[in-house]
Amino acid sequence: MSGRKSFYEVLGVKETATHAEIKKAYKSLSRQLQKDKSPTGKDRYKDAQHAFEVLSNPKKREWYDEFGQEEEQEEQEEDAANGGEAEDSDQDNDIFNMLGNMSMFSRFASQGSRMSKCDPIMTRVEVTLEDLYNGNTTKTAHVSREVVCGDCDGEGAKSGSKISKCDTCHGSGMKFEHHQMGLFINRVATNCSTCHGRGKVFSDEDKCEKCTGSRTLSEETDLDVNIEPGMHNMQKIEFSGVGNHLPGHIAGDVVVVLDYTEHEEFQRSHDNLVLNKTISLVEALCGYKVLVKHLDGRQLYIHNSPGEVIKSGSLLVVKNEGMPKFGRPTEKGDLLMKFSIKYPENSSLSTDSIAALKNILPTAPHFVMPLGENVEEVNMYDMEEMNFGNPFQGAAGPDEDDEDGFGGAPGGIQCHTQ
Ligand SMILES: [Zn+2]
Ligand SMILES: [Zn+2]
Repeated sequence: MSGRKSFYEVLGVKETATHAEIKKAYKSLSRQLQKDKSPTGKDRYKDAQHAFEVLSNPKKREWYDEFGQEEEQEEQEEDAANGGEAEDSDQDNDIFNMLGNMSMFSRFASQGSRMSKCDPIMTRVEVTLEDLYNGNTTKTAHVSREVVCGDCDGEGAKSGSKISKCDTCHGSGMKFEHHQMGLFINRVATNCSTCHGRGKVFSDEDKCEKCTGSRTLSEETDLDVNIEPGMHNMQKIEFSGVGNHLPGHIAGDVVVVLDYTEHEEFQRSHDNLVLNKTISLVEALCGYKVLVKHLDGRQLYIHNSPGEVIKSGSLLVVKNEGMPKFGRPTEKGDLLMKFSIKYPENSSLSTDSIAALKNILPTAPHFVMPLGENVEEVNMYDMEEMNFGNPFQGAAGPDEDDEDGFGGAPGGIQCHTQ
């Protein structure tokens, strides 16, 4: 029964061939076979097409590498049992006929879809803005997961114990209920409650000692999370297949979410950094110099040009001193300096200083009091200094303020009405 060519042999490539090598081999082979109009030539062309279809698809190739031979064997044995007259010339075709209708892959595919993946475990690690700026740090994510018990391989029973088919569901693990819905009968499948969907049962004495029959073990594990420059708050980092692993399932992933603690000075806005600075009026008018300690420890000497006035609320940009861009750490956003101005305190300027300032500063608009007009002089006060507090206070009426609600008559009225 040898003589059956593997897909690699059909294309004339090594099992270690790269995708490009496979593609190249298929191209030249198909060009050559297309010219061959004999029946064997046509068959070989079909074979090559099938082989390429499988080997050029990473998923199918993986399956073929792992299970291909086994499946072929099975098919061969079936042929033999059926009085197999598989002769040399037809042998190659057997595989391809089998694969032609994709029985092998549909079988695996259906297995694949039955084997569902465990839900991912979400966990978070705390990072600082310095971590996100500098990268090259490793954080530890703690993960609590459920994994298949290694002692019983997820069976729940000691090895060598008697495991029998569940009588309730006859080993299918499913229970079917039929619901009449108008003219139709709806068949609903649920897990068998006797065997909890496993199709197998064993006695209590045979329970695995390690997992006490639960089939899984809880364990704690730590994952190293590499923080790269420019990563973002709430960025998700996936660790494939290291999460929960329940029996009959594909191991799930762990998703680590970066949780960033606010920086005392810098705020991040996408790839830019924002630095709020309060400066004095003198600095705003006569020149401003400051040293800013950056997230990598460098001191930036920041100043404005002589004669340049910094206005309150203005944003000044320091190019390329923002956050590194994720994946392109040599490129950086900008540092935005947002200024607010601290003016002199009330009544802190003497009459002389005011006069001097008036002299220096650009002239104020000239005010003329109109004569004979209906003019009334009013006062204005500083809202904050007047201590208004809650502007809605007082307007709310008698039933505001629970804490002093017992004080007066209105409180009493309130009690009666309830
Ligand atoms: Zn059952
Ligand atoms: Zn166990």
